[in-house]
Amino acid sequence: MSVDRAQPVSSLPVRIRATAPTVQHWAFWGEKPRVIAYCLLTESIAAFLTVTLLLRSPVAGRDLLILIALLGLGVLQAELGRQVERLRRRVSGVAHINMTSVWIFAGVLVLPPAMTAILTATLYLHLGVRSWYKLQKTPVWRTTSNAAVLVLTCFASYSVLAMFGVNGMSGAIELGWAGAGIVGLTMLAHFVANALLVIPARDTVVRTAKGLFGGPMDNMLELATLCLGALNALTLAIMPGLTVLVLPPLLILHRGVLVKQLEAAATTDSKTGVLNTAGWHTRAEVALARAQQQQRTFGTLMIDLDRFKRINDTYGHLAGDAVLRAVAATIRNEVRERDIVGRFGGEEFVVLLPDIGESDVTAVAERIRIGIALLSVEVPETLRPTMIDELSASIGVAMYPDSGVELQRLLDAADTALYTAKNNGRNQVVRVGDLAVAQPRLAS
Ligand code: GH3
Ligand code: MG
Ligand code: MG
Repeated sequence: MSVDRAQPVSSLPVRIRATAPTVQHWAFWGEKPRVIAYCLLTESIAAFLTVTLLLRSPVAGRDLLILIALLGLGVLQAELGRQVERLRRRVSGVAHINMTSVWIFAGVLVLPPAMTAILTATLYLHLGVRSWYKLQKTPVWRTTSNAAVLVLTCFASYSVLAMFGVNGMSGAIELGWAGAGIVGLTMLAHFVANALLVIPARDTVVRTAKGLFGGPMDNMLELATLCLGALNALTLAIMPGLTVLVLPPLLILHRGVLVKQLEAAATTDSKTGVLNTAGWHTRAEVALARAQQQQRTFGTLMIDLDRFKRINDTYGHLAGDAVLRAVAATIRNEVRERDIVGRFGGEEFVVLLPDIGESDVTAVAERIRIGIALLSVEVPETLRPTMIDELSASIGVAMYPDSGVELQRLLDAADTALYTAKNNGRNQVVRVGDLAVAQPRLAS
């Protein structure tokens, strides 16, 4: 935001008023060229199609009434859920599903395309101004781009209805079971089209399915809001007065999702995205209990970056943080989805690998060590690209039950092995089993 300092006219206090930045100062222009191009393209297509469709088909009075009803309910829901929404945005830095599909997908089934586009744009404008504005994680350009992508998603859903020659919900009702199937297909198309259309608008390139399409909770929530949208449309087609009944379950769902997000935030290390100490211990205790019950083995790795202080001293703390993120990503890449990865503060990571034997655990530890040694991390916010590539880590390996039958015992054992690795010259993996005599923790 730029600040407009009005000239003092008299001895009256100087009024400082915040104004919107001028077009050439928009943060949007600082984004990657491919993101800028994609956003401008989708926004132009969405606007062009909406205006063309609006000019082609005259607005019917009944459609206008439905549009106003959906808009009114959407705005009411956003207002009633405003605090919840702002908190959700604050705690979560990941793919964020909002509940607007309840109104927008209903629009797809009961309104002409141009009016659903207007509904989408207005609901997003309202949410942008009232709920998301000034929250750092939701810049204005992102809200605009998401709205445009959603308008295009709606057009894709309309094309499914058109393909079957069905005129929205009322047409589907006439077709009976076949109509229900077509509504289901339209819902699926809406879900898939939206998931695909948002990918090119991402500013970072993600390759994991979870990164691209969100976690199971995100997808279930999106499907749930689409289901409510379809039911909403059904009510609008049969008994419009009852549409208001969708509000209470929607507000409760919204609150439930916030609780889930708060739970996730409380167990996640915000710097690297892996588990924090408390989150790791909770998951690890469950894994330990299961191993005891099923008489299985598991491995514990204690990973500590070598001479990390030097990285901070040479390149700065921000670069140190970038290294920590890259190391966390490397560790995640080298282990299975169900392996439990945590960061115990500082530059110390811990991994619990269930159901595998010592040789496999050691192989994973070696892969992680090599992965870290091969890392090349770009120093952020420098004029000339500077890469950090002198990284290495020491790793201690402890096995359940050989090195201990309690979590703390295992961690202590892995820690002892880790400090032996440090004393042996760093950049190596040491197993508790390799230590001839259990050594006390040594100073580095
Ligand atoms: P060694 O090989 O013996 O492990 O040496 P080291 O320098 O890695 O170990 P030491 O424990 O002396 O230093 C750890 C450093 O990690 C000190 C601290 O400034 C830094 N550090 C701890 N937490 C963070 C963080 O969140 N971000 C950044 N950038 N640095 C951190
Ligand atoms: Mg260290
Ligand atoms: Mg350390």
